[in-house]
Amino acid sequence: LVVLSDVQKHFGQLHALKDIELTVTRGEVVVVIGPSGSGKSTLCRTINRLETIDEGTITLDGQPLPQEGKALAALRAEVGMVFQSFNLFAHKTILENVTLGPIKVRGMKKEAADTKARELLERVGVGHQAEKYPAQLSGGQQQRVAIARALAMEPKVMLFDEPTSALDPEMIKEVLDVMVDLAEQGMTMIVVTHEMGFARTAADRVVFMADGAIVEEGTPEEFFTNPKSDRAKDFLGKIL
Ligand code: ATP
Ligand code: MG
Repeated sequence: LVVLSDVQKHFGQLHALKDIELTVTRGEVVVVIGPSGSGKSTLCRTINRLETIDEGTITLDGQPLPQEGKALAALRAEVGMVFQSFNLFAHKTILENVTLGPIKVRGMKKEAADTKARELLERVGVGHQAEKYPAQLSGGQQQRVAIARALAMEPKVMLFDEPTSALDPEMIKEVLDVMVDLAEQGMTMIVVTHEMGFARTAADRVVFMADGAIVEEGTPEEFFTNPKSDRAKDFLGKIL
């Protein structure tokens, strides 16, 4: 579904993504881990083209990523993204946050968009908060709204970049539970996270990055019980 081939990205002198080869199949859950600065966020951002690449190709459903205009807006709708900071529109209600994209980008009628948004908010456990504003919700609730907002666009793939890093411990689980549900329902997901419990239970594959390159990948069992590279061993030694 998502194929990155020989992707290179530089920030000035810094070679931020090196020879990236990654294929994510439909329904697959890929967890990306690695030290700070290894290029995990940059990798995610190239997939919905928040970052351009210098060389190589990225395709979604067999199509190269569009460069600009309407096609680019359509791509952003198909690649849902959830960040560490929830990025909800502060002056819009929870319901409006979720319906805005479907109405503006997908051309949905307000009523249909409302119905769908309420269903999604229910599904992520914040159905009773629809009329409130983001600041009135906890961090965990806001992040679940951010997930509902991305899902409202019916994306082909969901990207999560450290979605629980800004949350208090008691709120992490409620967000991870929503992500586990999504994974079980067959959503294609690329997840950058330090939550190794999530990686072990929900990932089909773990991709380990260091210094802009994919150093190693494997099933969670393989990776966590028998990491091959010294860098992965060193990294796991620090976090587990
Ligand atoms: P973290 O775990 O801290 O989030 P990361 O693996 O997500 O790290 P990236 O944010 O992808 O790492 O950054 C990879 C490298 O690229 C870092 O050295 C970073 O400083 C650099 N970088 C990222 N974005 C930019 C930018 N817009 N301009 C210049 N350098 C950048
Ligand atoms: Mg990052």
